Amino acid sequence: MSAVLATPPLPIAAAPALPIVNALTVDVEDYFQVSAFAPHIARSEWDARECRVERNVERILALLADASATATFFTLGWIAERYPDLVRRIADAGHELASHGHAHARASAQSRNEFLADIRLAKAILEDITGRDVRGYRAPSFSVGAANPWAFDAIAEAGYRYSSSIYPIRHDHYGSPDAPRFAHEVQPGLLELPIATMRLLHRNWPAGGGGYFRLLPYALSRWSISRINARDRQPVMFYFHPWELDPSQPRVAGTGVKTRFRHYVNLHRMAPRLTRLLRDFRWSRADRIFLGEAGE
Ligand SMILES: [Zn+2]
Repeated sequence: MSAVLATPPLPIAAAPALPIVNALTVDVEDYFQVSAFAPHIARSEWDARECRVERNVERILALLADASATATFFTLGWIAERYPDLVRRIADAGHELASHGHAHARASAQSRNEFLADIRLAKAILEDITGRDVRGYRAPSFSVGAANPWAFDAIAEAGYRYSSSIYPIRHDHYGSPDAPRFAHEVQPGLLELPIATMRLLHRNWPAGGGGYFRLLPYALSRWSISRINARDRQPVMFYFHPWELDPSQPRVAGTGVKTRFRHYVNLHRMAPRLTRLLRDFRWSRADRIFLGEAGE
């Protein structure tokens, strides 16, 4: 036996794990379309309101460009009809355009046929503007779940490849605390990509955005996302809205204390927090992460 062969092999260093790429998503709607304000602002009044979505989305596009990150924009058909140039700018900047439905009606407040017509219309409007397939859909207020299993059939029938319509937490307006926490196939050809939660003390805690991201200290969000990446080895699905970066948006009159608090708390902290979030983790569009496709 030669000396060379007798030499014990060097231990092969374990390849360092690449940081997980998380999914950053934006629900493109204006402040007056928020579900919690629906009792105070009729849909027929939307056209009379000052629209601020365009400048707020431009701000998000600039933050993403500074961080060299891409994202998925779940855009309302109602917004896309009025701001087609904005939709084109989102797509031209390399982001994924997905659908948030047309009229921001909860799936749970519609019949199957009404729901199907709404999500088909939004998909057609977005595809007409960009000439690209729209594969993703997010229901307003996470209103898809065990109570309306027909909704997933309709989402597939409308031609979507994935839904991101479940937040597996307990909340008074939405949430399916017993739903699976991570990406799963709900039926052949259709994935559900739930908003991120952290499992602690036998329950799920919100870790993927919403008012929690503005209300709680940023360090808690960072810790939760790191923990999901490290322990669960799963990408995080994170979401926010353009109006969350707009502290000077018009105040909606007549709302209750809880609704006001949830909507307006720490709006001025959102942009610096997003900048930190973009710096602290790797982010990309949902289709690249979960469908494994370039999407162009
Ligand atoms: Zn929404």
